[in-house]
Amino acid sequence: MERSPAAARNLRFAVIGAGMSGVLTAIKLRKAGYRDFVVYEKADRLGGTWRENTYPGIACDVPSHLYSYSFEPNPEWSHRFSPGAEIQAYFEGVATRRGVMECMRFGAEITHAGFRDGRWHLETKDGRRDVVDVVIAATGVLHHLKWPDIEGLDRFEGALFHSARWDHGVQIDGRRVGVVGTGSSAVQIVGAIVDRVAHLSLFQRTAQWIMPQENPCYSDAELAEFRRNPELVDKMHADMAVLFSAFSNGLVDANSPQMQAIETACLANLEQNVRDPVLREKLRPNYKAACKRLVMSADFYRAVQEPQAEVVTEGIERVEAKGVRTRDGRLHELDVLVLATGFRVDRFMRPIRVVGRDGLELDAVWEKRPSAYLSVSIPGFPNFFMLNGPNGPVGNFSLIEVAELQLGYILQLVEPLRRGECCEISASESATQRLEVERTEAARHTIWGSGCRSWYLDDRGVPMSWPWTFDRFRAEMAAPKIEAYERKG
Ligand code: NAP
Repeated sequence: MERSPAAARNLRFAVIGAGMSGVLTAIKLRKAGYRDFVVYEKADRLGGTWRENTYPGIACDVPSHLYSYSFEPNPEWSHRFSPGAEIQAYFEGVATRRGVMECMRFGAEITHAGFRDGRWHLETKDGRRDVVDVVIAATGVLHHLKWPDIEGLDRFEGALFHSARWDHGVQIDGRRVGVVGTGSSAVQIVGAIVDRVAHLSLFQRTAQWIMPQENPCYSDAELAEFRRNPELVDKMHADMAVLFSAFSNGLVDANSPQMQAIETACLANLEQNVRDPVLREKLRPNYKAACKRLVMSADFYRAVQEPQAEVVTEGIERVEAKGVRTRDGRLHELDVLVLATGFRVDRFMRPIRVVGRDGLELDAVWEKRPSAYLSVSIPGFPNFFMLNGPNGPVGNFSLIEVAELQLGYILQLVEPLRRGECCEISASESATQRLEVERTEAARHTIWGSGCRSWYLDDRGVPMSWPWTFDRFRAEMAAPKIEAYERKG
């Protein structure tokens, strides 16, 4: 009789988070023959970033046919870069079709994970407990809001919210709206709301390079062809992956031809599409294109040139009851203030209290900054793995492809546990330290280390990203180097 792959040892898994990576993990665990797993999700719905970010104009800047699971192509994508709600519906549809909704526990926020007697003991906020063999943290990167350190936010009498907590109960039509920030979120918001508001004040601390990027919708004929011809959809995925790999490979060398081509395109966009020379200079960045996360937009420059829009480059002094006071003493009166100020990217699965072998506290290990071997495993935290963990490829890549590669790698690490060859596996301290030294050195030469402020940089100003080519990442993820891991039991 054929034995199911998980028959050797019945491992129990906990997956933390039901975003893109958590849904993926549930599907792949089942495919690998595992039956005993639970996905813990603190919210009441899956979707992660796509559940949380519902601001006007939200879309993914990775083309939709690439930002799809490799095993779930979607002929129905409406646009080259489809809107957030469509992406959310895609993940819910996939989870339902693949039958993994039943493994999800919603409203279950893990607060504590402790490794004792060879197993992980979990607790949720409402006191539920579980004991599992393997934890896979799929808790996302851009998840913890960054609330800006601006005086007086609590004194504002209008509506105030973060871009990732858009308050749809607040009327913006015909009102005076302020947006703080010029990252991807702000740029999408500005393009989407400028024609609806009475006045838009964009508080820009740093100018952004804008890569012109049209977002056509697929015609009925194209959609019919996608439905009829699945191979065409697969081919689009594959072709886009090749294109993105080439782009991504260029990011790791600040002087690469790819980066020069991007800068040329962004510069031409600025020169040709911003008419007023004063505004053009306000919008001209003083660092290399793609040093910050490259912003793609077809309509940002159009939007900020509308008569009701204003790019405010005077620094913010404070927020007052009626609006934002800039350092030149001017009060920008507002009804609504949107903080598109980004995310704290050093938290990962925290605030969960994670305690590894012999009482080792994750907070202590990550006191200076988070790190992990190849971003998936932390020394002293056996049988605990992360998807999109510290220092992984977070440039303009498809995080779906990243998570798929990482999960394939993690499932190989779990194999010796399943086969009963060992009871504990985690990266060794020496391999982790060696790789981190090498990574830090390489990261300084990437485009993100070329001299700008961004969420990619750690407390030392070193980019917290995979600093080598995407091809190298793929090669690393193909199979674990077993000598980099410590096995026990
Ligand atoms: P972000 O890129 O971190 O941008 C935050 C913005 O807020 C920056 O312009 C920053 O200015 C400004 N800011 C922060 N604190 C401030 C303060 N105290 N005073 C004034 N300005 C302040 O955040 P994001 O736009 O939410 O994007 C984060 C990431 O999410 C993106 O890089 C991308 O990876 C992802 N994302 C992707 C998409 C997409 O697929 N299209 C859309 C949205 C987000 P400085 O530049 O001066 O620091």
